[in-house]
Formats: sequence, structure tokens, C-alpha cells
Amino acid sequence: MRRPYQTTRPTPGACVRRGAVATGWQDGVVSPATPPAPDVRGWVDALTGPGRADRLTHLEVLPPRAPAYAAWPAWMPTELRLAWAEAGVDRPWRHQAEAAEHAHAGRHVVLATGTASGKSLAYQLPALTATLAGRGPRGERGAATLYVAPTKALAQDQLAALQGLGLDVRATTHDGDSSHEQRDWARDHGEYLLTNPDMLHRSMLPGHERWRRFFGAVHYVVVDECHHYRGVFGAHVAHVLRRLRRVCALHGADPTFVLASATVADPADLGARLTGHEVVAVTEDGSPRGQVSLALWEPPFTGQLGEQGAPVRRSAISEVADLLTDLVVEGARTLAFVRSRRGVETVALAAAAQLAEVAPELAARVAPYRGGYLPEERRALEQRLRSGELQGLAATNALELGIDVSGLDAVLLAGFPGTRAALWQQVGRAGRGGRDALGVLVARDDPLDTYLVTHPEALLGQPVEASVFDPANRHVLAPQLCAAAEEHPLGVEDFALFGAGAREAADALAEAGVLRRRGARWFWTDRRRASDLVDIRSTGGAPVQLVEADTGRVVGTVDAGRAHATAHAGAVYVHFGETWLVRSLDLEQHVAMLDRTDVDYATTARDVTDIRIVTEHRHALRGRCRLSYGDVEVSHQVVSFLKRRVPSGEVVAEEPLDLPPRSLSTSAVWWTVPAAVLEESGLAGTDLPGAAHAAEHASIGLLPLFATCDRWDIGGVSTALHPDTGRLTVFVYDGHPGGAGFAERGFDVAGDWLHATREAIAGCKCQGGCPSCIQSPKCGNQNNPLDKPGAVALLDALLGVG
Ligand SMILES: [Zn+2]
Ligand SMILES: [Zn+2]
Repeated sequence: MRRPYQTTRPTPGACVRRGAVATGWQDGVVSPATPPAPDVRGWVDALTGPGRADRLTHLEVLPPRAPAYAAWPAWMPTELRLAWAEAGVDRPWRHQAEAAEHAHAGRHVVLATGTASGKSLAYQLPALTATLAGRGPRGERGAATLYVAPTKALAQDQLAALQGLGLDVRATTHDGDSSHEQRDWARDHGEYLLTNPDMLHRSMLPGHERWRRFFGAVHYVVVDECHHYRGVFGAHVAHVLRRLRRVCALHGADPTFVLASATVADPADLGARLTGHEVVAVTEDGSPRGQVSLALWEPPFTGQLGEQGAPVRRSAISEVADLLTDLVVEGARTLAFVRSRRGVETVALAAAAQLAEVAPELAARVAPYRGGYLPEERRALEQRLRSGELQGLAATNALELGIDVSGLDAVLLAGFPGTRAALWQQVGRAGRGGRDALGVLVARDDPLDTYLVTHPEALLGQPVEASVFDPANRHVLAPQLCAAAEEHPLGVEDFALFGAGAREAADALAEAGVLRRRGARWFWTDRRRASDLVDIRSTGGAPVQLVEADTGRVVGTVDAGRAHATAHAGAVYVHFGETWLVRSLDLEQHVAMLDRTDVDYATTARDVTDIRIVTEHRHALRGRCRLSYGDVEVSHQVVSFLKRRVPSGEVVAEEPLDLPPRSLSTSAVWWTVPAAVLEESGLAGTDLPGAAHAAEHASIGLLPLFATCDRWDIGGVSTALHPDTGRLTVFVYDGHPGGAGFAERGFDVAGDWLHATREAIAGCKCQGGCPSCIQSPKCGNQNNPLDKPGAVALLDALLGVG
């Protein structure tokens, strides 16, 4: 029988370069089609041509860095050394050798260095050494490696890279697409298994008895791109890795963890929170880098008016399409990152159309790079970009991990990608092999992006944030304990592993009859599989399916938490440019029925939100103002929807809805200002609800800069007088049951966060408020009332300024 995915030496010409790319470019390895030396200054001049100079708000030039090498470790087998030499790697960079040495010595280690710094070599070196050295006399599996990536695509890329080394190592991916035959082979013979947290959670850990020989052989666990684990997902992954430790221990293994991360602040802490182990950090990057120029770019106002008569800026997507066109004309190989799939299409089409006018021969050299491509199709596109046949590519941020290209000159970002780590990761796609590179961050019309491009120090002078997540969230801890109990009954000795609150949570689960306690053991006795009861990528329950009423075809899905607002009867749903009208919503069945109908309006829901303080856990006084963090109960009721004309946004009708309230127990950060302070600040006679509401919106917009969340992960409530505090109060809460750690992070960094909020509002060039400062696209009150000067005065009073 042919073993699926057994690595064999590649046919001449195939894969060899891919191996080289994945293990990092070294000196002397030159792409076959080396483009001319980059002229970054010239490109910037071209972009800031007539009428556009003032859109460039800042240009930061980071100096080049020389490579730092180390010797190969003495414990490495010759076989491996030869494989890397063939791939163009003659010796490792210092950080690679250092991380490999820690791992080889059995110390858990996190390697946090830049894009293209060859992190895979750092874990492959000890892992492959252990595999080759651990084999039995007849080639039986000795030491196995379990590689965990956040996405299936990345695991597949890693497999291809590993195969490109041409070693005789039994490597395979294990994901939703794996055949039975492949799984059996992996269990019995697999030496290097590449998977994702979802498969661990749903399949491998619950079925660990069948995998016992594999788990018993695991010598290394590699957690790649670990800065991606944040929020509720991050908390789940932290517990999945603890369950993995426990299962390995059950079958006699005690693996060493090797984590790879983008450059983040305090990677050792991130590693420790993810694995529960003490972790050594290697952060000094020894790979060479050319000069990197980062341009910050603010699109102009369009002259048109949006909601409440506010001025609106040109979209980042239109702006990126123009910049892509110009860079392609300049001969720069450019990758544009865009948030949505539709945006990707728009950018590629618009750039091709513009090129057809100015340089027709270039029009066919721009392409979109979407999700849903087969690996071969992706490889073909990457190859065309690498060879220079393609000059411009537009891709979604989501594909960032899957893209394997080198020799790029420039990267365009349509909007801040959410974290500074992701920004540098994406910009780092350009300039591989020590060549100079250009990155351009184009602001979207929102408070965070606008703040960043007008306050470069917030992007450049700061250590890159670590991911925020909270493994103690009881909504995560409880189902994870159940899954662990199903894998093997919980004992008191397990509670230290699962962290503070685990014992209490297990007792509560026993009291509720979910777990059964006998003596000092907690059992899962339900017939259902515990791991099926929780989706580690969301906490909102099953998504609502959008179904075409006449045919039963599923058109799309929406999160259960947003169904009231977006899939109520009468809602307009837009899918790939087509409009659909929701006929009915059945929340019990998680189904909404739709009809394909052309309408010339869009709908937005209006809601009423109430918030009740359950417990204040922490507080800090700022003068007479008070800042708090604690548990809250948020109740949310969608009461009506508005029909708005497209594209003007003008409201043409409002229709009532009869939907039940939804409640959410979560954590929040809130601040209160007493009446006397309002009086002294001259705010007493002003539009207090408008000032508080505007400050709330802007603070939600800015929190992602400090808490690695998305503005859609958090919500807010503001009021001139809250019954629980008796004062003007502004709340910002976690949108996930039990909280995801974002609100607490807001409390911890409140001074910086609220100061940035104040600056974002005061610094915006609009008059009375716009989407770049105080307007919010998710406001349930149609951005009314909002008071821009009032918000600045209120924040000044809170911060004790002026
Ligand atoms: Zn504004
Ligand atoms: Zn609002």
C-alpha cells in the first residue's frame, strides 16, 4: 500500500525553492528572476504626485540590519545538514540556533522574530533530529512531533516545505479533509503530524485512546503563529493545549513546547499563558533586513455627506486600487491586503481597468487572490508573482498566513490589520532577502485608523502588543473542563494545570449535574460528546442559516448574536452584490428564510440596550471620577428597523419589530463623572447624553489598539445618569459571554486609552463629528445624539486636563 503523504525527494526542479523559502533566505540564494534594485524613494514620489502630497501623513524609514550567524549544533545529524545545504542554507542565523538549542535541551521556548526570519528551521532542527535519532532498528517511530497551526492552509504549507527538504520523515497533515486511511496511517506511523487546534479539540483529544501510541511518542509540540490566539479563541486554545499536556502524560509523554510568534511584547508571558509552562523567549532577530519605509496615508474627504450630514472620506479600497496601479506602473511588485473578499475583487478590477488606460500591457499582470482556491491554484499564482509575470496581487488579510511569496517590493494595507504585530507581519512580506521595501498603511474612515496615521508615535514608538485572552473565563473553562473530564476523569491534581478557578468551576458543574463527582474524581457521564458542545472559535451558539425560501439553498450564515439585528423579518441582506429580503426568522431552528429581490434600500436595526452592574471587581480613582472593572448584565432588544435609501443613507421609513430581549453576562470597564465635576468643567448646561455617547463611540474605536480586539468584539452604553452609579457613566463591555479579557485590559491601560480617545476626537478635521472620530457604524441609535466638543470636554474632566 502506498502511504499517503510520505515525503520523498522531489522531482528535479520541484519544491526545492519552496523549501528554501520556508526555511528562510540566506546569503547567496537569489531568486531566478531577480528584479532591478528597488527605488523606494522614487515610488513614494510617484505616489505623492500632483494633488496627493497631503495624503502622506508620515514616512518612517527603518535602517537595514546585517545578518548574525551561528554554527550548526554538534548534535545535529549530517543528513539534516545536507538537506538544508541543498535548500541553500549553509548555517543558521543566531536566533534559529539559540531557539533550537533550548528546545533540544528540553526547555519550552518561544521564538518571537519578524516575518521571513526562518522560524520553521528553529523548530524543525530539534524536532527532525529527535525523529531521526529516535527510530527503532527497523525504522519504527521513536519521537514524534505535533505541529499546531491556526489554519489548515498554513499546516499544508508547512507540510510542503518539510517535504521540500527531501528527508525520509513520515509527515502528514491531519485536518477535516483527511481520509480514514490517512488517519490510520498517521496514528500508527506518523512522525510529524501537522494539525490545528480545532482537530485537537474535536477529534484527536476525545479519541486519544485510539491515538495513544502517537501521544505517547510526542517529543515536541510546535505551536506556530501563536500570536493569532486571542480573545475567546485564545482562551480555548490555552485549555486545548493543557488537555493535550494531560493526554500526553496519560500515555507516558512529556513534550517540550516550541512556540513561534510575530514580534510581540513579552512573548514569554504569551507562551506561558498558552501552555501553562514556564517558557524561555528568544527575541533577537539575526536575519538580515533591507531598509524598510513605512508610509502612513490618509484618504481625502470626498465632499459628499453621510449619516447626520457628516463628511465622509474616500474609501481605503479605492485609494489602494490607485496606489496599486501606480506601483505596478513603477515596476514594483506589490501585494495589497484588503479585509473583505469583495474588496479584493474591487481592488484588482479597478487597478486592471486603470492600467488598461495608461499601460495596457500591464492590465493582465494584476490579479485577485481569494479564499477557496485549491493549493495548486495558490501555488500557481505565487509562482507567477515570483517570476515577475504578475506585478500586483490583491489578497484578503485572512490569507496572510497562507501566502508564500518572496521578492516583493511593496505591500499596501487597506486599513490597519488590527494589531501592530499583524501590521509588521504584513509589511514584512516585502523586501525579503535583504532588499529595500515599502509598506503603505491606508486609513479607513474610522477612529482607530485615522488616529494611527495622524499619530505615528502610537504605531512606531511602542512595543508590539501581546495577545489578550483570559483562560479563566468561566464560559470557556467550564466546557473545557467537561471535555477534559470526558477524556479522563478529573482529579484534584489536575486543577493546578487548568488554573485559578478550575476547582470552583468543577464543583459548580457537579452541583449543576453536568459533571458527576465520586470521591476525589469528577466524571463526564453525559451521552453526548463534551467537545461537541462548544465551538472554540465562537461563543455565540450555532450560527443562523440564511436559506432561500423557494429552493432551500443556504445563501449564507450570520452569528446568532447578530441575527436579531441583521436577519429579522424585513431585513435586507446583501450577498456578492445581490440583495435578498428576509421573509422570516426562526430563532429556535436557527434559520432565516430569504427571497432574492431587487430593492433600492438597505436596513439598519434600532435597539434599546440596558446595562446593570453585577459586581465591581476593581476600581481606580481619577480625582473625583471613578474608573471600574467588573461583571455586568447587558440586555439588548431590537425594537425596529429603518429603511435607508442607497447610497445616500437617507431614512425613508421605520418599521417596528417584536423581538424578545437578549441578555449577556459579561465583563465591562466603566467610568463615572460626578455632577459637581460636570458643573466645574462647564458641561452642566450642554448636551451631556451626546457628549457621553460620542466619548463612548470613540473609546470603542480606540480600544483595539490596546487590547488586540476588533471593534465588533466590544460594545458600549452611555448615559447622563445611570441608576447603579447615580452619575454620568460610560460602559465598554466585552461582547462575548463571560468576557474575553478586553474590558479588563481597557481598565489596566485606561490612562493611555482614554487619552488616545480624546486625541482622536480633538484631532479630527471634521466640524461636528464624522466616521473618523465619533460616529459608529454599529450604533443602535443612528449616531444621535453626538456632541463632539462635549466629548472632548468630558474626557478632559476625566483625565484631569485643562
Ligand atoms: Zn471627525
Ligand atoms: Zn451609539
